[in-house]
Amino acid sequence: MRVEVDVPKCVGSGQCVMIAPDVFDQREEDGIVVLLNDRPPAELHADVEESAVVCPAAAIRVVEK
Ligand code: SF4
Repeated sequence: MRVEVDVPKCVGSGQCVMIAPDVFDQREEDGIVVLLNDRPPAELHADVEESAVVCPAAAIRVVEK
């Protein structure tokens, strides 16, 4: 799996960080997403997929399965 985030789209809501904290973090100053790992291990794939679905800004994309 390879993940991309569209940082300008992110509204800093933090759902992705709550669901997959090993993959996503938020900037201290404004809460905008920081991608920690663009190739997460298999055990995190379901959490990443869920993050992409619930992200209110549709800023998370799985570009390779
Ligand atoms: S869920 Fe989406 S909008 Fe919210 S912090 Fe993560 S990437 Fe940004």
